[in-house]
Amino acid sequence: MSLAVSEYASMETTGTNRRSFLRYSLAVLGAAATAEFACCAKQAKAAEAPGAPSPALTPDHTLVDSRTGLPLPMVEPSVRQGIPGRKWVMVIDLSKCDGCGSCTKACGKMHFIPPERQWIKVLRMQESENTAPYFFPQPCFHCDNPPCTKVCPVDATFKRQDGVVLIDNNRCIGCRFCMAACPYGARSFNWGHPNDPASALAEGYSPEHGFPRRVGTVEKCDFCTDMAAMGMLPACTSGCPMGAIYYGDENEDAVTNSNKETLQFSKLMLDRSGYRHLEELGTKPRVYYLPPKNRQFAAPPSEPKA
Ligand code: SF4
Repeated sequence: MSLAVSEYASMETTGTNRRSFLRYSLAVLGAAATAEFACCAKQAKAAEAPGAPSPALTPDHTLVDSRTGLPLPMVEPSVRQGIPGRKWVMVIDLSKCDGCGSCTKACGKMHFIPPERQWIKVLRMQESENTAPYFFPQPCFHCDNPPCTKVCPVDATFKRQDGVVLIDNNRCIGCRFCMAACPYGARSFNWGHPNDPASALAEGYSPEHGFPRRVGTVEKCDFCTDMAAMGMLPACTSGCPMGAIYYGDENEDAVTNSNKETLQFSKLMLDRSGYRHLEELGTKPRVYYLPPKNRQFAAPPSEPKA
């Protein structure tokens, strides 16, 4: 279930509307979430990464590890706060995308994502019947006004000061309120045993890379924040052979692509009419697009109508 655009847009305007939005979300989703959680809790007993907690919410609203009954601590402050002084941003040049899906593959490889799931999807877009279709890579937008983090009842998903929105799966109770609140469908749910490889299990869990997974939890693009901390580009960006994806620090006003082309972010936005997807929702994405003007590769035409 997703929220209507008008309902989310109205949430932006006043505190009263925000409270109404929360009441609405909780009322509509409560029954479904209770049933889902019971199911997921059962599954969680079957398959967990070694040492992973089993979070549960008590009637007095305390998040505890159901195995020990002890309150679950927050992950270390540096992970919650992000890299000081940074404001990560992505720019996707739609005129260069040839729809090859290399970004999706590179992301999947880095994060051990099962083949049926994608953290960055390459969609085929067409504004109207008479306009030309184009390719549209879509990761999580790491919104500056993220509806997903506002509805999480256990503070498992959070916005950092460096702009990144992450999920702490060691706190996630699988209610999926965040999935319902995201207007872009950027989040996925681990319905079954994740089956992460030994190398993922060996690395140990961090919200900054999102694995090893836990059954019954939500996941999404993490903006490769652990790579950014090492001065490296995200997997999708370095994996794009067309140089269509740029990533960088808005505070430095610079973004770089896989061809090591570094451009001034603010100038690029002005010169190339940069925009954000569904700006009218008020979510303030940190992913910007350059329109598919003079595009080098055409998306295939629509399937003929039956
Ligand atoms: Fe949250 Fe969706 Fe925005 Fe990502 S795109 S920050 S999941 S609302």
